Amino acid sequence: MRLANKVAIITGGAGGIGLAAVKRFLEEGAKVAIVDYDKQQGEKMEAELGENVAFFAVDVSKLADVKEMVEQVVDRFGKIDILINNAGITRDATLVKMSEEDFEKVIQINLNGVYYCTQAVAPHMIAQGSGKIISTSSVSGVYGNFGQTNYAATKAAIIGMTKTWAKELGRKGINVNAVAPGFTATPMVEKMPEKVLQQMEGITSLQRLGIPEDIANAYLFLASDEASYITGHVLQVDGGIMM
Ligand code: NAD
Repeated sequence: MRLANKVAIITGGAGGIGLAAVKRFLEEGAKVAIVDYDKQQGEKMEAELGENVAFFAVDVSKLADVKEMVEQVVDRFGKIDILINNAGITRDATLVKMSEEDFEKVIQINLNGVYYCTQAVAPHMIAQGSGKIISTSSVSGVYGNFGQTNYAATKAAIIGMTKTWAKELGRKGINVNAVAPGFTATPMVEKMPEKVLQQMEGITSLQRLGIPEDIANAYLFLASDEASYITGHVLQVDGGIMM
């Protein structure tokens, strides 16, 4: 029960890594707000996972909706201890072929969404003098990746924001960290060609793709009291893909 009496918001919590994190956090005693724009899947999970879960059908790139959601979470659960900025999308194309729309969309969700959620949650954490903020970067944001001008830019930006917020919020008792997953078997990567996935396994030291639980366990560690003296850190959870 490493998260007993804790309240967590997990964005993108209706599927993939986010859903694995919701389940892991519930096992450890947390109350969890799932924030996701997939209403059908979110409502299904809320019904399945029991009374310690509340679903909020929100697109994290819509500032007014994010602000309203945060107030509703506080009304429902009384406080917010943990924010997991996990929602994200890809719209890959090489530099010359990338459309303005695909560039902008990824920026709005992966970058603006993280900023909006953190800005809306931070005053509550500052008032209580504690909190854990964990955002999802990517090895793509650390090393770049073919076809990911937009995505890599947002995931590198998350590292910059994480380190900035760690400096600003440390004196308020708030830890701010990021997790940078490698290739992880979720709907996001399962749409890639089998050949690419095999190549990724081949260049990973541990010779397998990650599973959502690998990343969920890293979120859990950084959200727990065991990580109280860790802040401004980017934890790569990638099976050694970039070694
Ligand atoms: P996924 O596509 O399987 O799940 C993402 C979830 O986020 C979905 O439930 C989706 O509905 C939700 N979502 C997307 N945009 C949203 C928005 N604007 N508002 C609210 N909800 C939204 O993806 P995943 O693989 O689980 O990825 C989770 C995070 O991990 C993302 O930030 C992703 O960039 C990052 N990541 C994934 C991998 C990987 O290999 N899967 C690697 C590195 C980083």
